[in-house]
Amino acid sequence: MKRIKIALAGNPNSGKTTVFNSLTGSRQHVGNWPGVTVERKEGKFSYGGCEVDVVDLPGIYGLTAYSLDERIARDFLIKETPDVVVAVIDASNLERNLYLVAQLLELRVNVILDLNMMDLVEAKGISIDTEKLSRVLGIPVVKTVANKGDGIEDLKKAIVAPPKRPGPFQIDYDPDIEAAIERLSDTLKNKGLPKEYPLRWLIVKLLEGDAEILEKVKKLPEGSGIEEAVLKTTASLERNLGYDLETAMVERRYGFLKGLVRECSEKRLGIEERLELSDRIDSVVTNKFLGIPIFLALMWLTFQFVFALGTPLADLIDSFFGWLGTAAASGLTVLNAPGWLSSLISDGIIAGVGSVLVFLPNIMLLFLAIAILEDSGYMARAAFVMDRFMHALGLHGKSFIPLILGFGCNIPGIMATRTLESRKDRILTILVNPLMSCSARLPIYTLFAGAFFSKNQGSIIFSLYLLGIILAVVVARIFKTIFFRHEVAPLIMELPPYRLPMVKGVIIHMWERGSLFLKKAGTIIFAGVILIWLLASLPVGVEYASEESLIGRLGSALAPVLSPAGFGFWQAGVALFFGVVAKEVVVGTLGTLYGVEEAGLRSALLQYFTPLSAYAFMVMSLIYIPCIAAIATIKRETNWKWTGLAVGYSLILGWIVAVLIYQIGGLF
Ligand code: GDP
Ligand code: MG
Repeated sequence: MKRIKIALAGNPNSGKTTVFNSLTGSRQHVGNWPGVTVERKEGKFSYGGCEVDVVDLPGIYGLTAYSLDERIARDFLIKETPDVVVAVIDASNLERNLYLVAQLLELRVNVILDLNMMDLVEAKGISIDTEKLSRVLGIPVVKTVANKGDGIEDLKKAIVAPPKRPGPFQIDYDPDIEAAIERLSDTLKNKGLPKEYPLRWLIVKLLEGDAEILEKVKKLPEGSGIEEAVLKTTASLERNLGYDLETAMVERRYGFLKGLVRECSEKRLGIEERLELSDRIDSVVTNKFLGIPIFLALMWLTFQFVFALGTPLADLIDSFFGWLGTAAASGLTVLNAPGWLSSLISDGIIAGVGSVLVFLPNIMLLFLAIAILEDSGYMARAAFVMDRFMHALGLHGKSFIPLILGFGCNIPGIMATRTLESRKDRILTILVNPLMSCSARLPIYTLFAGAFFSKNQGSIIFSLYLLGIILAVVVARIFKTIFFRHEVAPLIMELPPYRLPMVKGVIIHMWERGSLFLKKAGTIIFAGVILIWLLASLPVGVEYASEESLIGRLGSALAPVLSPAGFGFWQAGVALFFGVVAKEVVVGTLGTLYGVEEAGLRSALLQYFTPLSAYAFMVMSLIYIPCIAAIATIKRETNWKWTGLAVGYSLILGWIVAVLIYQIGGLF
């Protein structure tokens, strides 16, 4: 029968004796290590046609020979050369326990790594990639729970398997130290150093100042020369390092192990640890002073992300539909199609659908950003940070996000209200969302502010944004008292632990919301577009969107109504009508009606508007009605009653505020 000799090495309390007992059962005896009163346990087992002698080494942390136990273990390993050393480690403290394993490997013994205490590892939520660990270290790795006997069979199998020389495992020290090791290897190769030690290990130990090895070397015939070479090298290395060489080498070993453990193990944080980590993040993120700046910075980043990335895509879609409209029109002319059909297709359908689809990149990106903020758990914090402020508006902290999103586009803003649990909060937030100046209003603002207030454009535009916010506060308060007097806001703000958002989840969330916009809003927008096209084309034979067309007549009919606001002419009425399709269409419409390109539009406007009526017109454009896409979305998210209210109140409010501005402004 084949006989092999193995030793169990490991830190104290790693379960060596338990493994030893499980391996050998009752076939064991206890003696003392030669010359000392340290207990030496030996035993036997046979497995797979092998008779295995097992020695339980004293518990040690390293092989430095600082302590008696370490010296016993090291001498045993070097002198009695066991065939296999089973490193029994407490795998729940992987990094610290692997230090000994690294030292065993440096000594070039045949190591089998026994990851013991796997039950504790699992309880801690750690998973260890044993295959990778085995690959990197070049040794077999076995998992055990020794006190339950789990994995002992695997361990036995690994022990009797023909031992493979450990792979070329080596810890690389700093380049300076490596160079020194190489130089010393050359110098000491033929100086009669004891053959039982691997040369590299010996040099490493000498450089570390290992007293026992140094003692041994000194006794050699060429000992003093060797000692001198080593001391000189150490001194010169320490001069360069600026600190102790042994520390440098120990640090390097731990550095290697830290990297190894990070590579080969993963910690799933338990719920308690996740909560604790969340608390620590929250102490910064929801901090009294830092909370709002962090929130604003993140919002700013979100907007940058959405608009910097989305706008070029939107422009692309825009020019595509522009091209498609022209191409379709000329194609239809070639085919001798009637003029109305070509107009329906290019002015109506293509332009209309295009005006909706241009929003898609921004909407998708915005939903992507929201999904990331939500899935990570930050959104709950943002709501928490803004809660006090929002309560002043009669809303919940969570309403803040939809409102701020409304500055980009009211549609995602309205859809983001789904995160609100209370119906009251949802509906109020939806109703006031169109008062947030979305990016489509900006072209109107810049056109008029540029023409009439070129000196203070920025402040004028800012005043419009601010006006929208103030009106939202007022309107929210009023509607709350009218419709939701008795409903109380939930006081609890839940703060789930943070987690890393999953790419898949984020994309699904983005797509779910984005495609809803496409599907449902799309149909209503489409119908709206056709309706406006009809109004602009009928009665048969009129010039598209001229004063004689139905829409022109509506504009004319509207003129007296708009006149108290200072813009009582049919073109303004028509522009506002078209603005329902999408707010930025107001600019293009005015251009068409005045028969000028956008560049010449400013001077044309100067003939019709005064600065005061221009401001009133901008205010009107801000408030008077949500665009078709927003109306469709409100309907989707609520019902016709609330949609009617949203349209109705904004029409009346827009008119009242525009008139007030024109009339009161006129007094000065
Ligand atoms: P030694 O100092 O390395 O010889 O460790 P022992 O074998 O004396 O074990 C130390 C303690 O750990 C004892 O209470 C064992 O019962 C316990 N133990 C050993 N192996 C395991 C294990 O896999 N899981 C757990 N939970 N405890 C273990
Ligand atoms: Mg023990």
